[in-house]
Amino acid sequence: MVVTRTCIGCRARDEKPRLVRFVLSADGVLVQDPAAVLPGRGAYVHPSVACWQAAVKRRAFARALRRPVAVGEPPTGWGADPA
Ligand SMILES: [Zn+2]
Repeated sequence: MVVTRTCIGCRARDEKPRLVRFVLSADGVLVQDPAAVLPGRGAYVHPSVACWQAAVKRRAFARALRRPVAVGEPPTGWGADPA
């Protein structure tokens, strides 16, 4: 059975390897967790600028992580197209 997660940007379910996991570090900074090994609640998003911006607009990071979180620009190298 394939493990799926919901992208907090476009709300589509997708296979976990196609999404990028983010967690909050101890000092409240949003960090990528490519290996999915960091503890705590994770937020999953497609590596797409469109999904990132949708998540920012809907304050989906704060909701998914249950903490206030300052979100900046999408990570460099992400494509502009929806995943
Ligand atoms: Zn998405």
